[in-house]
Amino acid sequence: MSVQVVAAKMAEVDLKDVPCKDPAPVSPVTPKTEDKGMIKNDINATAAASSAALATDPARGDPNMSPSLSPNPGKMPQASAMKRPDPQQNGGESFVNRDGTVAEAPRMKKQIQFADQKQEFNKRPTKIGRRSLSRSISQSSTDSYSSAASYTDSSDDETSPRDKQQKNSKGNGDFCIKNIKQADFGRREIEIAEQEMPALMALRKRAQGEKPLAGAKVVGCTHITAQTAVLMETLSALGAQCRWAACNIYSTQNEVAAALAEGGFSVFAWKGESEDDFWWCIDRCVNLEGWQPNMILDDGGDLTHWIYKKYPNMFKKIKGIVEESVTGVHRLYQLSKAGKLCVPAMNVNDSVTKQKFDNLYCCRESILDGLKRTTDVMFGGKQVVVCGYGEVGKGCCAALKAMGSIVYVTEIDPICALQACMDGFRLVKLNEVIRQVDIVITCTGNKNVVVREYLDRMKNGCIVCNMGHSNTEIDVASLRTPELTWERVRSQVDHVIWPDGKRIVLLAEGRLLNLSCSTVPTFVLSITATTQALALIELYNAPEGRYKQDVYLLPKKMDEYVASLHLPTFDAHLTELTDEQAKYLGLNKNGPFKPNYYRY
Ligand code: NAD
Repeated sequence: MSVQVVAAKMAEVDLKDVPCKDPAPVSPVTPKTEDKGMIKNDINATAAASSAALATDPARGDPNMSPSLSPNPGKMPQASAMKRPDPQQNGGESFVNRDGTVAEAPRMKKQIQFADQKQEFNKRPTKIGRRSLSRSISQSSTDSYSSAASYTDSSDDETSPRDKQQKNSKGNGDFCIKNIKQADFGRREIEIAEQEMPALMALRKRAQGEKPLAGAKVVGCTHITAQTAVLMETLSALGAQCRWAACNIYSTQNEVAAALAEGGFSVFAWKGESEDDFWWCIDRCVNLEGWQPNMILDDGGDLTHWIYKKYPNMFKKIKGIVEESVTGVHRLYQLSKAGKLCVPAMNVNDSVTKQKFDNLYCCRESILDGLKRTTDVMFGGKQVVVCGYGEVGKGCCAALKAMGSIVYVTEIDPICALQACMDGFRLVKLNEVIRQVDIVITCTGNKNVVVREYLDRMKNGCIVCNMGHSNTEIDVASLRTPELTWERVRSQVDHVIWPDGKRIVLLAEGRLLNLSCSTVPTFVLSITATTQALALIELYNAPEGRYKQDVYLLPKKMDEYVASLHLPTFDAHLTELTDEQAKYLGLNKNGPFKPNYYRY
């Protein structure tokens, strides 16, 4: 069954006569010779195929969607996914390992340290041993995250969940979590998340008895949060069986894991796992008599790595991998380059709907949240300098300006600098304003943007924080000198005090402020989760040969579909192209509406 048919069924559309076009893997950045034609004719070729595939009656789409929303609101686009070169090879984010390890960082992804050596799960570490085994956390892997404001229980029960006999109310014990009694609480958290994940809820409705994932056995390794629970329950509603482990030892919301286990999901995760627990949980997900996964949903690449190392034969049955994170995607490209990728993989990280929304909109909201929670600062009239005017910087600047702050921007790139100017921000060099500003925010993805010289010159009470990927933007190490005193005043808030009494307020020790100190809006996660669900449906239903053993990017049309599923939340009314306009622009009325190189 192809994805067109699946999509159509979900939209109650009869696609009996739909021609099916096989996707030619395309690299939008560095086309191979044989791909060039596809790129050149990208709009027309894809549009033509999509048009045929989607030439259906809009009135028969999801009744919950505004009829004026989209030319074809209820239809899932043809997913002729594109091969994409590794962004790491194209100036993408780097993965510098930093030395600072963090003891407490609930939403930080762990630093990936593959345990290649044989695991001996029976040797249970002591309490101290467990702590010492804890995976070190670094910002090198914070490319995916959850909005887990975990209300995880603070019970003193130190018994490892692995040592407990666990059963849900129906007698099922195929899970390992902290405390099944928290299930009701977790269910409420999931219900709250559902409110902000409209696209997944719409997918469930559209399925209406059809099961595009019937027979799918999905093994997942992601943050286990209320948002993930909504995704898992959606996959289940679409027919999949799911077994899940956490991709991060700190990010599991125990109450959500409990609700999932109570609902019959095989979840192996709890907050504060040791390194050994982490791999044990992953192993319990895949190593089960009489059950083999045929799809992987990974976040960071650990699960994929584990199966490669321990159970390579499983790949005979696995139809594809969907990977969310920068790190995991990078690994897939490495495998592909080495000719070792043995199934098709979807790179969700580089979907336009993930990148644009995570970076800009997520940061626009969470910068204020992070600053408020940690410092209770008032923004009106404050002088703020934002270093870097990329997506993240734009989000931060917009939010602060809206709150009445006086915002300065530093940039190295004249194009972004010009954007900042035209958006009404003063473009300065850091040394020009460093003495006067109240808040310094870095979001460059670079290193040593705020060095000791600047820290020395800041005024008393200046707040210093980072929104960029790594904790290298602020030279925090340079503050660890004998003449400076550090005072931990709140969780994630340090006062660094100079001999003359001047103090600066350093947040999250220079790690990502929003991921360390605030939540991330569920709606943004909804966009990513919907992309993941569609990628799974596509890979699972793709006819033999559509996807080779390579890394693919979901096509623009799919991104447009993800976006369209989120529009009803806003009662948004999308304009439809007239036939004349479509012809004039050379577009299919159903999209894709932009060429691959379009930057939004
Ligand atoms: P981007 O490349 O669009 O923007 C970074 C900008 O910084 C660029 O315009 C660049 O010219 C500028 N820059 C580089 N060095 C500079 C310097 N020394 N001084 C001034 N400007 C400099 O990237 P982005 O999407 O805005 O992401 C920025 C960082 O934030 C990345 O590390 C990214 O991984 C991270 N990120 C964080 C979050 C979050 O939730 N906090 C979300 C997404 C991305």
